[in-house]
Amino acid sequence: MGSNIDLRRYEDPSSIQDAFSKVVSGKAGYKAVIERKKPKPKCTKCGRGGDEDQKFCPQCGGKMAVPMTNCPGCKKPINENDKFCIECGHQLKE
Ligand SMILES: [Zn+2]
Ligand SMILES: [Zn+2]
Repeated sequence: MGSNIDLRRYEDPSSIQDAFSKVVSGKAGYKAVIERKKPKPKCTKCGRGGDEDQKFCPQCGGKMAVPMTNCPGCKKPINENDKFCIECGHQLKE
C-alpha cells in the first residue's frame, strides 16, 4: 500500500515574460531600408544599357526597353537571349 503521487512542479516565474509588450508608439522608429532594384532598360537596337528614365538610346536612337525577366505567357523566368519561352513557346523577341 503506497500512494506514490509525485507532483513535481516546475514553477519558474522568470519564464513568464511579457511577450506582449505593446510598443506601438507610432511608426517613427520603423525603418524600412529595402531598396527595390528596378530593372534597367536596354536599347533594343544596340543593346546598350541605360538608366531608368531613358526612353531612347543616346548612342543610336533606338528604343529603350526593359528586358523581360519572365515569360508574359507562363510567368516562368526566361533567359535574356531566348527568343522563345522554353516552357510554353511564347515568342519573346520579334
Ligand atoms: Zn542603341
Ligand atoms: Zn512561357
